[in-house]
Amino acid sequence: MLEITKQNLEKAIERAKQNKMLVKCVEFRRYEVTNRTNGNRYEVHFTKIAGRKFADCSCPATVICKHIGASIGHHVVKASQMSRQTV
Ligand SMILES: [Zn+2]
Repeated sequence: MLEITKQNLEKAIERAKQNKMLVKCVEFRRYEVTNRTNGNRYEVHFTKIAGRKFADCSCPATVICKHIGASIGHHVVKASQMSRQTV
């Protein structure tokens, strides 16, 4: 599990923009990200612990990757919609 920081997230979003990413919400906090450039598909999962944000991706990267960068925007919108309940 990797902690999301402003710095590593900015880089991940930049990398995500260089690829055509298709993001599908599987359930709250869980996303399926397909890279339309090469057809690879990975699953991203977000967690919040004591106010800090963490993310997991099923790809081999050991940093906050472009799949997390691609799906975070969707997650932020969803999380704010549900903030009174589960976040
Ligand atoms: Zn990834």
